[in-house]
Amino acid sequence: MSRIVIVSNRVGPLSDTGRAGGLAVALVDVLRDRGGLWFGWSGAVSDEGSYGALRFAEEGNVQTATIDVAQADYDEFYAGFANRALWPTLHYRLDLTDFDRRLEEGYRRVNERFAARLVPLLRPDDIVWVHDYHFFLMGEMLRDAGVKSPIGFFLHIPFPVPEILTALPNHKKIVHAMLAYDQVGFQTSNHLAAFERYLFEEVDGVREADGGISAMGRKVHAAAFPIGIDAEAFSKFPESDEGAESLALVRNELDERKQIVGVDRIDYSKGLPQRFSAFERLLELYPEHKGEVSMLQIAPPSRSEVRAYSQIQRTLEGLSGRINGRFSDLDWNPIQFITRSFPRRSLAGIYRGSAVGLVTPLRDGMNLVAKEYIAAQDPEDPGVLVLSRFAGAAEEMREALIVNPYSIDELAEALRAAIQMPLAERKQRFEPLYHGVMTNTASSWARIFLERLLETHASPPEEPSEEG
Ligand code: UDP
Repeated sequence: MSRIVIVSNRVGPLSDTGRAGGLAVALVDVLRDRGGLWFGWSGAVSDEGSYGALRFAEEGNVQTATIDVAQADYDEFYAGFANRALWPTLHYRLDLTDFDRRLEEGYRRVNERFAARLVPLLRPDDIVWVHDYHFFLMGEMLRDAGVKSPIGFFLHIPFPVPEILTALPNHKKIVHAMLAYDQVGFQTSNHLAAFERYLFEEVDGVREADGGISAMGRKVHAAAFPIGIDAEAFSKFPESDEGAESLALVRNELDERKQIVGVDRIDYSKGLPQRFSAFERLLELYPEHKGEVSMLQIAPPSRSEVRAYSQIQRTLEGLSGRINGRFSDLDWNPIQFITRSFPRRSLAGIYRGSAVGLVTPLRDGMNLVAKEYIAAQDPEDPGVLVLSRFAGAAEEMREALIVNPYSIDELAEALRAAIQMPLAERKQRFEPLYHGVMTNTASSWARIFLERLLETHASPPEEPSEEG
C-alpha cells in the first residue's frame, strides 16, 4: 500500500494526545493507517540551517524527518513572508502587511530547500500531502524535481476574495503554484468560492467536465473539507486527571458565579480587544451582572518577534487592567487574563466549567476552540457557544449564537442572552452542535481528503491549454 508523506511547517509529536493538537493527532492516525513519513521544520534555528543533517524519529510504521532553518530563513520566511505578508493578507488585514521583496525571496528559498531535502526521501508510490500557507510553492517544486505522486494541499487559514488577494504582489505566482497540486482543500465553501472566483476572474479559468478547473496551463481540483477535532478523546478530557483538576479549581473559584471563557493565541485576527470591550459594555448596560459573571481569557503569546503581535498583547494588558480597575470589587474581578498556555486536557475542564464559550475572531480559517468547547460540555447542562460569523466554524455550527465580532453592542447583547439562556434552549442548541462535532472529526476529515486526492490523481490529466 502507498505510504503517506505529510509536509507541514511544524511536525507534531507522534504520541500523547493531550499535548498534541487535534490536527497532529489526526495526521498521526492517517500516517499509522498506511505507514508514513512526516516532514517539516524542527523548530530550531542553527548555523547550518536547512543544509544541516536531517533528524529522524520513528514510532512503529511512522517516521518523522525534520531540518533546522538558518536565522535569515527564520526572519524572512517564517517571521517574514509567511507571517508578515501571507497571514495578514489571508486574514483581510492589508493594513498590517509587509511586502518587502527580500521576504518573498526568503519564502521561495525555504520552500525550495525543503523540497530539495524531501525529494530524496520520497518513493515512487508515495502520496504527498502538503499543509498550509508556509508551503504554497512546495508542490510546484516537487513537480519540477520530477515527483509523479499524487500531491495534495490543504489551506488551514482563510482564502480571501480576489479584491484582497490581489494586493499580494506575487498573488499570481502563489495561485499558479497552487495549481500544481492535484487536489487543493479549503476549510469552507466560502474560501473555495473565493479561490474559484480568482481563477475565473483573474486568470481566465475554465471549469472542466470532471469538475476540475484549468487555468494558467495547469489543472486543479478544489473542494471544501471542513476540519474537525479528535472529538471522542476530547469529550472525555474533562474526566481525565488534569481536566477534573482544572474543572474543580474553576468551580471552586467561581462559587455560584458564571464564567465566560475565551481561549486564543494572542493574534490580531482573534478579535480580543473587541471581546474585552463587549464584556465592559455588558457591565455598563446591565450592572446586575457585576459580581455574577466573570470572564476568563487564556491567551498564550505567539510570534512576538512580529511587531503587530507584541503591540496587541500590550493593548490587551491595558484594556483588561482598565476594566478591572473600573469594575472590580473586594470579592470579584471581572476579567482574568492569563498569557500562558494550558494543556488541552486542562482546557477541557475549563471549558466544561464555563457557562459561555466566547469565540469571536474577526477572521479565522476554522477555529478549533469552538468545536472543543462543544465537545467538552456536559450534555445534561451544556454551556452556550457565542461564535463569530467570520470563523470558518460558523458555516457548520449554525445553532451557536452567531455574532458580528465588530459590533460591541451586538456582542454584549449576545453575552447577556447566553448568560440568561434557559436549560431547554441550551440543550436544543447544543444537541445538533455536539452531533456535528462528534461526526465530522479530524480523522474523518483526513480520510476524506486523501480519498479525494487519490480519485483526482487517478483521472487523466488534460493537455495544458496555455503556458502560465
Ligand atoms: N490551545 C492549547 N493551549 C492553550 C491555548 C490553545 O492547547 O493554552 C490549543 C487549542 O486547544 C486548540 C488550538 O490550540 O486546539 C488552537 O486552534 P484554533 O483553531 O482555535 O486557533 P489557531 O491557534 O490555530 O489560530
